[in-house]
Amino acid sequence: MPVEKRTPIPVREAVNRVIKQDILLGTTEVDLDQSTGYILAEDIVATYEIPRFDKSPYDGYALRSKDTLEASGERRIEFKVIDHIGAGSVSSKVVGEFEAVRIMTGAQIPEGADAVVMLEQTVEDQDTFTIRKPFKPGDNIAKKGEETQTGDVVLEKGQVVNPGAIAVLATYGYTKVPVYIKPSIGIIATGSELLEVGDDLEEGKIRNSNGPMLASLCQKMGIEVESYHIQQDDLESSIEAVNKALETHHIVITTGGVSVGDYDYLPEIYKAINATILFNKIAMRPGSVTTVAVANGQYLFGLSGNPSACFTGFELYVKPAVYKMMGAKKYYPQIVQATLMEDFMKPNPFTRFIRGIATFDGQQMTVSPAGFNKSGAVVSIAHSNAMIILPKGTRGYKKGYQVNVILTESQAFEEEFNI
Ligand code: AMP
Ligand code: MG
Repeated sequence: MPVEKRTPIPVREAVNRVIKQDILLGTTEVDLDQSTGYILAEDIVATYEIPRFDKSPYDGYALRSKDTLEASGERRIEFKVIDHIGAGSVSSKVVGEFEAVRIMTGAQIPEGADAVVMLEQTVEDQDTFTIRKPFKPGDNIAKKGEETQTGDVVLEKGQVVNPGAIAVLATYGYTKVPVYIKPSIGIIATGSELLEVGDDLEEGKIRNSNGPMLASLCQKMGIEVESYHIQQDDLESSIEAVNKALETHHIVITTGGVSVGDYDYLPEIYKAINATILFNKIAMRPGSVTTVAVANGQYLFGLSGNPSACFTGFELYVKPAVYKMMGAKKYYPQIVQATLMEDFMKPNPFTRFIRGIATFDGQQMTVSPAGFNKSGAVVSIAHSNAMIILPKGTRGYKKGYQVNVILTESQAFEEEFNI
């Protein structure tokens, strides 16, 4: 068979072809404690104000500010304590002239009072205390509705349920959360050279590392995955395997077999299942042969078998597609600028993605390659937290250049922070 000629498209075009499929799976409700990582399917509207009542942000005394006006270091003013209330309690007393209610953080301001004096600002005696400075109406009071008014959209449809959103949902009494259904993903590693993780090594064979890596990438996104057995480079059984995975999962990711080699069957598999190919050549390295197709509203991601290319393909194409499919309003990767710490002088005919380590050195964001960086590299992926983007060009990149970087991992740092 003659080698098929493929026309490379820019990365941006490829990502957008994937995104534009607009595949959504409908909505459902999940328990609040299971909802982290889902995307909200409805706006969440405040049914009451936050705070719900004027309350004290401190432990102290609630009093009338007008009684404090004459207070000074020379002329301390004395107040009589008429009640004690903790958080959750409401005083039945009305605060009168030179009276105060001892109040704890979170407690409702009693009637009559319009300011709170912090305990540290008082000198206490038995049933009285004195202060040495005047207060204004509203001092040290968290006002009813100062954060949120009734009717405010506090969370938007399309936003991810993160721990802060959980707190908001809890505040408004959501035991069930309206979310979009998440896609489930089937993963098939293809290649007759592959062994399962638990297999003993054999001559000419390698263990399947892409499959577990992809499963882990999906799990990190909170996506359910099924990892199928290794698929030999055999057309008939490969078609069967992909069809089977499509029956049970919304998305099928394969690795390997996307090139134009004698045993690269992915193009034929797509043909056999009548999939529409969105692209099969991207102007990027590694992973230029990454292929994405759709069949009956289902995505098929054909990632390269080269581990680094496989990882890059997931970050660039699978992740945005999955977020979009989960109903997310934001689905593109976060890009930051960093100072390149090493030369890359070879000209690039295609945009290059290099696994990197991005760090803030106290002054600026810097990025260095994460180690051995050929497309077949495995170990460097583990040490990277970023992908350096070097756009195609004829001149290469020198240490000190500003480059764009995709952050792929948020992590803790070794250095003690200096705050
Ligand atoms: P392919 O995309 O099938 O041409 O494979 C490209 C390279 O990646 C070859 O060196 C393969 O042996 C290697 N490879 C393919 N699949 C995997 C896998 N699942 N895990 C690790 N390496 C792989
Ligand atoms: Mg192969």
